[in-house]
Amino acid sequence: MTTNKAKIKEIFASIQGEGLYIGTKQLFIRFCACNLNCDYCDTPHLPTNINNRDSYFEFTPNELLDYINERFDIHTINYISLTGGEPLIWNEFLAEFLPKVKTKFYLETNATITENLEKILPYIEVIAADIKLPSCSGIQNSFELHSKFFDVIKHSKIDCAITRQYDCEGKKIFAKIIFDDKITDKEIDSCVYLAKTYDLELILQPRMIGNEPSIDTPTIINIFNKFMAKYKKIRLIPQVHKFMDIE
Ligand code: SF4
Repeated sequence: MTTNKAKIKEIFASIQGEGLYIGTKQLFIRFCACNLNCDYCDTPHLPTNINNRDSYFEFTPNELLDYINERFDIHTINYISLTGGEPLIWNEFLAEFLPKVKTKFYLETNATITENLEKILPYIEVIAADIKLPSCSGIQNSFELHSKFFDVIKHSKIDCAITRQYDCEGKKIFAKIIFDDKITDKEIDSCVYLAKTYDLELILQPRMIGNEPSIDTPTIINIFNKFMAKYKKIRLIPQVHKFMDIE
């Protein structure tokens, strides 16, 4: 019998610094490994040395539950954020872990591993999905992958917070777009097409270099206005935790 274990880079409580749920208190569980390799990736999602057990934790679902209960009071947080890396890589682990914890889960995902979503969907309250622009991330077939991902959620028969968003007002799925000045009009059209098809609120997030936006404010506003001319459910929200220097 194989043991269901996940490699986790770090676990910490902090304030969500980006997206629609910015400012909420979250317990972040950062999983190791990712299926993509974005040009701008600055997340410490890989074990820095796979042979060095000090660089990551390895947990069974019960061990992770004990670890969290011993160190954190989950009643004082709004969500447990599953982040990475790409958490959906660990779907077998999550399918066993999530039902053990009676709290709200917030999934931060690159929205490309559709086949791993279904088992964990009933336990997820909010999905913060990325839309990867080829011009900024270097990921070339991203729109095709995202389309499959959102399509499965929209047509899922599973009754849960996420699938119910299509029948009510509560916004449970939104999409983050990291952009820089290389964004093309065709990419804007593709993002708007996805948003209209799947009723997504779009969060525009300027690419950062260190703690500074990589492009100037007039260019950011110009790109924001190009989106606004085609779709109204858009917000421009930079990564606030970088300005505030919080984890
Ligand atoms: S999807 Fe996220 S974690 Fe994965 S390579 Fe891209 S930026 Fe990094």
